[in-house]
Order: sequence, then structure tokens, then C-alpha cells
Amino acid sequence: MSRHQRHFERLHQPQAQMAAQQSGSTLIWPFGAIEQHGPQLPLVTDALFADQVLNAVLDRLPMECPVWRLPTQTIGFSPEHGDFPGTLSLPAELLIQMIGSVGSQVASMGFRRLVLFNAHGGQIALLQVAARQLRRHVPSMAVLPCFLWSGVQGLSSLVSDEELNHGLHAGQAETSLMLHLAPDLVGSARPRDGMPDAMATSPPPGWSLEGAAPTAWLTSDLSETGVIGDSRASSDTLGKALAERLIEHWYDLLTALLSSDWPGTSRGPAS
Ligand SMILES: [Zn+2]
Repeated sequence: MSRHQRHFERLHQPQAQMAAQQSGSTLIWPFGAIEQHGPQLPLVTDALFADQVLNAVLDRLPMECPVWRLPTQTIGFSPEHGDFPGTLSLPAELLIQMIGSVGSQVASMGFRRLVLFNAHGGQIALLQVAARQLRRHVPSMAVLPCFLWSGVQGLSSLVSDEELNHGLHAGQAETSLMLHLAPDLVGSARPRDGMPDAMATSPPPGWSLEGAAPTAWLTSDLSETGVIGDSRASSDTLGKALAERLIEHWYDLLTALLSSDWPGTSRGPAS
């Protein structure tokens, strides 16, 4: 199957109907954002990452795998960047409703699994809520909300600990990945900003930006440039290594999903 035929929106109606009704039919819906990514990265960064990493993974999957992709949902939920003009954000309720509406339709066509393939860290929780609500509504279809950078092994051998822990946005990893995927879109600035040693105010002891006791931060709490991290050591070589790790990781996870019978048959309470 060529990359072309993996795009659901390019199928002809009879092909779409057959696709949905194949055993284990799986649809992947990429999610990104249009939001400030500092002075050096384009607004479309997260959407471009979701789109291109997914295409590379799909290209590697065997032709016979029953998997298709939807167009990328480019505008997401980005209120944390709202103080920086350029950012576009949709209401959480609207996105949850949209996922519920499209999800119910693809479930009624016969799709067995819908993967929400997200590259924007600020909407992880939102997609989890949307996925759980959709699943409750259409129990026959599995809904899997995942985040591009989560659970990827081997990142610590590529990116420094400081950057892994504190480089939340437009830092070394994202700048490098963009230098590899779309170098023409990368500007020349390389800020270091929003790091713990440079914050005007830090979270109280025991609290942190993300993690166990998070603080629902706004970028303007932390950063003047919009960068949260250190982009100075970014390189296309690192970007290539990161891309390879991400592609391998999601290839493995999608292969595991496609070879499984998840979500199986419902057990439910004994009647
Ligand atoms: Zn990003």
C-alpha cells in the first residue's frame, strides 16, 4: 500500500467502507497545535511533528496492515501560550465534542480502533478525557490517546538530563527535530529561557511545573521568549537521531496494537 492509500480522506467511498469493515481496522488521527514556539520555530511545530512522524511510521508498516490516517487536527488546546500572539486555541469543550462526534461516526462505519496521535504536551489530559468519554459511548471501538514524546526509550542517551527534565517547549529536542524534518522553517535564534535557575518565581517546595503536583503554569509565568528549555545545542544530527527513535518507538507500538485483538469482547458484570 502506498502512503497515498493510507490517507482515509483520499479513499473512494467503496474503499473507505471496506477499510472500516476489515478485521482489526485501525484509524490514526494526528493532533497538533498552532502556538508560539519561541523566535526560532514555526507555530505549526507540534502538528508538523505528529504528521511527519506518523507518515514515516505508516510507510514502514507492511502493506497488509489494516491501518489508515485522518488529516491532522492542526489547531488544538493551547491556552498556556495565549499571551504570545500567533497562538490559536480552541475551547476544550469544543475539541472534546469534535472527537466524540468524529469518533462515533468512524465507530459506526466499523472501525475497531481509533488512535489519537498527539504531539502537543498541553492537551494530553484533554485527549484522555475525550477518549474515555468516547469509549463509554462506543464500547465496540478502542480509543487510544497517546503523546509523541511519552514512553520513548533511549532519549536520555541523546538529550541532557537538564533538558529532559526542564526543556518543556521549543528547547533542544524540538529545535533539533525541526532542523532535521523542515530546516527551512527554523530561524537563527537559540534561546535558553524559562529554566529553574532563571525563573522569576519558582513553584513552592514539593510542587513543580509538571509531574506529581503540577501547577497549571502559563508560559508567561516562566519565559520572555516563549522557549522553556535550552535550544543552544540543537543540531540536525541530534534531530535525525530523535526522529529515528520516535519512528522506531511508534512503529513498535502500532505493530503491537495491530497484531492484538484489543479491545477484545466486553466482559461486563455477570447478569
Ligand atoms: Zn511543541
